[in-house]
Amino acid sequence: MKTMNPLAPIPPSTTETSANLHWHNSFAHLQNDFFTRLVPSTLPSPYWVGRSLQAAQSLGLDTAWLASDEALQALTGNLVLPGSEPLASVYSGHQFGVWAGQLGDGRAILLGEIQTSAQPLRTQEIQLKGAGRTPYSRGGDGRAVLRSSIREFLCSEAMHGLGIPTTRALCVTGSDAVVRREALETAAVVTRSAPSFIRFGHFEHFSYNDQHTQLQTLTDYVIDRHYPACRDSTKFNGNPYAALLEAVSERTAHMVAQWQAVGFCHGVMNTDNMSILGLTIDYGPFQFLDGFNPAHICNHSDSQGRYAYNKQPNVAYWNLFCLGQALLPLISTTEGDQELTLAALESYKTVFPSAMEARMRAKLGLTAPQPPDRAVIESILQLLSTTHVDYTIFWRRLSNYMAQMAHAPTNAANAEPLRDLFLDRAAFDAWLLQYSEHINAVDMAQAADLMLKTNPKFVLRNHLGEQAIRAAHLKDFSEIDRLLKLLESPFDEHPGFEAYADFPPDWASGIEISCSS
Ligand code: AMP
Ligand code: MG
Repeated sequence: MKTMNPLAPIPPSTTETSANLHWHNSFAHLQNDFFTRLVPSTLPSPYWVGRSLQAAQSLGLDTAWLASDEALQALTGNLVLPGSEPLASVYSGHQFGVWAGQLGDGRAILLGEIQTSAQPLRTQEIQLKGAGRTPYSRGGDGRAVLRSSIREFLCSEAMHGLGIPTTRALCVTGSDAVVRREALETAAVVTRSAPSFIRFGHFEHFSYNDQHTQLQTLTDYVIDRHYPACRDSTKFNGNPYAALLEAVSERTAHMVAQWQAVGFCHGVMNTDNMSILGLTIDYGPFQFLDGFNPAHICNHSDSQGRYAYNKQPNVAYWNLFCLGQALLPLISTTEGDQELTLAALESYKTVFPSAMEARMRAKLGLTAPQPPDRAVIESILQLLSTTHVDYTIFWRRLSNYMAQMAHAPTNAANAEPLRDLFLDRAAFDAWLLQYSEHINAVDMAQAADLMLKTNPKFVLRNHLGEQAIRAAHLKDFSEIDRLLKLLESPFDEHPGFEAYADFPPDWASGIEISCSS
């Protein structure tokens, strides 16, 4: 690990590089308590594994630069671009329900923030994951392996394609440098971007260490940059920190509702993996459900099922409660007074269920809310969970069914692909009757249109990622490109790629993904 000389002059905060990047490193200009300055460790002979031109465009990057050797070296950590002020930040967190103490960026290095060309103008942090040891590595090697880097890259862009708030991934570079996990593997680096990588755990860190001045500096920084409306809020006696807690609770509720609706399991919802911006962050043993099993556990290391699919909404609230506890010194000025903090958390309990219901209504094409919607939603989820029918395929076929009904409402064959999914045809027919009676009033074409934009044809199933990883280990990266294209527009039909929207093969159920990455 190479640590920067703290007395060395800090490079200017705005500098043009050959990549034409404009750096504005506001986090690096907070006091040193929040991070350690250092440079990434080098990796020998890097090569491109995957690149997202869409992510590049969203950052305002010149795509020609992304093909250059300078970019390859810089995004592997072998070259520090002028204007970048690399650092690793410190945070703590609760892992699997237990206070884990100090964690921090053990293998992620923030390069700085770049000014994007987006309107209104905003900055994006650029981070390298797997860029070598930091003072927070706690015995780890600071590296990420190729397989988990490919999964994070593809899933970040897949979630963005689905319209789910997420950190983005610009690229993955690989090296033949060996990394030891259960077996010997090779190292890779993912370049991620987000308006901020600050997590609940950052606040917990300073609160648990009774560093309330730093806690306030950090919270003010986040409010000023990302939640300015909290300053003017008149709710909670005008307390901006309570307003922040409420705003984060609401964003988190919307994010988790989107996860549940699309069948996404995060796998490691520790408080250090919860973004203060309500973004999906730190893709590890995630999974999109195949057959619908609400109790599904995607993380092979999660023996108790703490982070099972159907536990995610409650775990998010538990995590927000930890954030509330961390912000308590700023929200409750009187000793023992927790009222405002609890009031700020309350919003999750109303926003999550209503966001969830809105998502499910959209999946069913129910364009105007009506009281019986809930019964139809509950009955289909009940039927799917007892039959374990493939979640993504069911919703897509239902959307196609509605599209066909809009054109040929009397064709009895319309329902056949849907019925074929259920062994218990009578149970399915009963539900379809209930649904049909309920949607009688809606405009079928409008409903189908909404459903085809809500229920994706393509999700990053484990076996698809696995196939891309196996090919990548043989230095064939074409499958990553193919998958990326499908996942960037998962609601489009993509003729010729039906196999990617098909049922998982039998071997998929044997894939075990753990925290090892
Ligand atoms: P994660 O489970 O990936 O969210 O990581 C939890 C904590 O462990 C974070 O502080 C990571 O930075 C750290 N960590 C994970 N893997 C490594 C590694 N190979 N080397 C150093 N730190 C790591
Ligand atoms: Mg993490």
